[in-house]
Amino acid sequence: METLDVLVVGAGPAGSTAAYRLAAAGHRVVVVEEHPTVGQPVQCAGLVSQRVLDLAGSTAFVRTRVRGASVYGPSLGVISFKAEEPRACVIDRAGLDVYLADRAAHAGAEYRTRVRFDRLLERGPTGARVELTDPDGTRHELTARLVIGADGVSSAVARAFRLRRPVEILPAFEAEFPRSPGDPDSVEVYLGRRIAPGLFGWWIPDGAGGARVGVAADADGTTARAYYSALVAQLERRFGATLGSPTGYLVSGIPIGSVPHTAGERVLLVGDAAAQVKPLSGGGIFTGMRCAEIAAGVAHAALERNDLSAASLAEYDRAWRAELGEELRRALYLRRLFTRLSDADLDAVVEALRNAGSHATIVAFGDIDFPTHVVRELLTTSPSLVRLVPKALGAWVSSGAYRVPDLDPGPRRK
Ligand SMILES: Cc1cc2nc3c(=O)[nH]c(=O)nc-3n(C[C@H](O)[C@H](O)[C@H](O)COP(=O)(O)OP(=O)(O)OC[C@H]3O[C@@H](n4cnc5c(N)ncnc54)[C@H](O)[C@@H]3O)c2cc1C
Repeated sequence: METLDVLVVGAGPAGSTAAYRLAAAGHRVVVVEEHPTVGQPVQCAGLVSQRVLDLAGSTAFVRTRVRGASVYGPSLGVISFKAEEPRACVIDRAGLDVYLADRAAHAGAEYRTRVRFDRLLERGPTGARVELTDPDGTRHELTARLVIGADGVSSAVARAFRLRRPVEILPAFEAEFPRSPGDPDSVEVYLGRRIAPGLFGWWIPDGAGGARVGVAADADGTTARAYYSALVAQLERRFGATLGSPTGYLVSGIPIGSVPHTAGERVLLVGDAAAQVKPLSGGGIFTGMRCAEIAAGVAHAALERNDLSAASLAEYDRAWRAELGEELRRALYLRRLFTRLSDADLDAVVEALRNAGSHATIVAFGDIDFPTHVVRELLTTSPSLVRLVPKALGAWVSSGAYRVPDLDPGPRRK
């Protein structure tokens, strides 16, 4: 039977980052991807920070850079800001995935597409014996000393290794429009219960005169597609022009909230499989890639000392939470308050931000990877915003939602 050091399941940004690091460190790494082509289908709006480019070590997949954002309340009151310099990049998401896979393959990782991880057969002293389905539909087994589950929001690896899944998954729907009115230098965010209860709708310029338009919203019985249609209608009213026909759609889910364990005997989870996603935006490329780097470091050390026990690999869980856990925990808390705000409250938030002249604060502290920093600054400078907090807190507590046990704080920073 085939035996290898590391089986990475999933050729997204998290899987290919881990594969690259481990192959470069000299381990025999195989990446299996159930789709025929790496990067397809695209399931992402592709808005990332400079940190993602730094982690990838390339800008080849950048379509355009944006300096500003406009946040629209439910009644279309708006707070807009623009920095002097670019604050985020719009990328060709498929291009990023292909670039990262090529980098890992050049380092020695072997990619096998149209191969699906199905199940764990046993965890023994030499490795985890797993069953895969090959492109022709036949099943085959292999043994890996370590399995890295980078297989996204519905992670089969997490299920097979009995690691708990995130409690909340936000349905998302997005379309690409080849031509769109709007400021090509700015993204737009739409709040409100009729557009996107639980998160927001977005309009993102694609760098070629078009835009990506989408929503992620609570699974409340109304489909994400219906919310998306409401957003398109609102955009067309605002632009006074039709957006035309989209060239493609994507439907997916965004995991929200932490999972209690991202490591176990002979297994690590990275990226969406580990719910390493920013709860205030649903973005997971930076967090997934960074955690995959951390996972690769811990995995390398564990492979070298041939200790792939749960206790040995738990170092990964501690390490990524030490670096990112506090931000994700605070963001999850803020999100819970945010989801309790009514449309009138959201209008009041936008109004308060306009009146407080928060432009300078947002420009100074805005960071799409660490959004709680700017929220903290805004709360200290805008008394009218602070007044909304007890109301949201009260609504949250009386709803009982605070009892949902999906928040694992992990080790706290001093
Ligand atoms: C609509 C939408 C818009 C988004 N916009 C942004 C954004 O603008 N910025 C941002 O940072 N994040 C965004 N995200 C989130 C981002 O797309 C994810 O966080 C990111 O893709 C996670 O990367 P990953 O490598 O963990 O998983 P994925 O990219 O999901 O990759 C997992 C891979 O595993 C494969 N796979 C799954 N199961 C198996 C199996 N059993 N066997 C073999 N292969 C398998 C899948 O085919 C897939 O290729 C968005 C998400 C959605 C849904």
